[in-house]
Amino acid sequence: MKAAVFHEPGIPLAIETAADPAPETGEAVIRVHYCGVCGTDLHSTQHHTDAVGGQIMGHEFAGEIVALGSDAESGWREGDRLTSPPFISCGRCLACLQGKHFRCTGLKITGSGGVPGGFAQYVRVHLSAAVRIPDEVSWRQGALVEPLAVGLHAVRGSQRGLSGKNVLVIGAGPIGLAVSLWCRLFGARQVVVSELEPGRREMAMKYGATATIDARLNLPEQFLDLAGAPPDVIFECVGVPGMIAHAVDVAPPGAELVIVGFCMDPDTFMPAAAMAKELSMRFVVGHDKSDFQLVVDMLAGGRLDVDDMITDVYSFDQFSAGFEALRKPTHQCKILLDPTLI
Ligand SMILES: [Zn+2]
Ligand SMILES: [Zn+2]
Repeated sequence: MKAAVFHEPGIPLAIETAADPAPETGEAVIRVHYCGVCGTDLHSTQHHTDAVGGQIMGHEFAGEIVALGSDAESGWREGDRLTSPPFISCGRCLACLQGKHFRCTGLKITGSGGVPGGFAQYVRVHLSAAVRIPDEVSWRQGALVEPLAVGLHAVRGSQRGLSGKNVLVIGAGPIGLAVSLWCRLFGARQVVVSELEPGRREMAMKYGATATIDARLNLPEQFLDLAGAPPDVIFECVGVPGMIAHAVDVAPPGAELVIVGFCMDPDTFMPAAAMAKELSMRFVVGHDKSDFQLVVDMLAGGRLDVDDMITDVYSFDQFSAGFEALRKPTHQCKILLDPTLI
């Protein structure tokens, strides 16, 4: 099959022929219709890398079953449309049975650690985590389920609840947008999004933001002007060193910080600064199967208008350059690989 393969930092993904995957116990192989690029794909292929040479990345995919493992769960057939959290898990432990595949002790993550991902024509999925995509959900929407589920999981992770709350979202990348969208749906009073890039601020207004802030300006002051009160809950959705300290810095006393931005570099903040304000801090990651299912249900019901989040769709030929371009600040939001364009 054709795939986009990572070899080493500084060298764009190579479009190569890779071995066709075969389904193992409880698994299926799907033909990938779309696979989105995530911030973590960019992070993990930078300077210090945790991606291994020869890795096919990509964990935001949707596709149809072309092969089933011998004892795949009954109910799945060739041709079925699905998306799945990028988890090859055991499917039998308590965490898996509760739909919290991310906590499976035998967890392998599709698209990292040597497990081939979705920047390819075909990818393996473990069916215990997979979620069926009904016909009302387009293939492109199917590839947005994962990032939307990350946002939903983060918003559900707030211990304050969002109803009637004033919320600050730091960063308007795909995850920041997904968080804003769910905050609005969960009844937040104000959802103010702070972002450097003007194009992304505009995008935020389509996805739940009630107002946006230029991240270069005095954030607490602007927030107060816009919302009439300081934020109750702050979501950090950037995930680079210094952002937790920034969130602590701009938080009012008593606020809750939810750390969503996935940062793989060491970071520091001053505990005393957080203590002086008696902040609550919560770290969240990934999603449960129930998050995936709710996103799919809401897409199927026409209750999430998210298609414009996709700013570019690339064939294999265009993909490496498109992937590299995302490393610089950009107005682009979600870019997808369409591996069916050969
Ligand atoms: Zn992702
Ligand atoms: Zn398990």
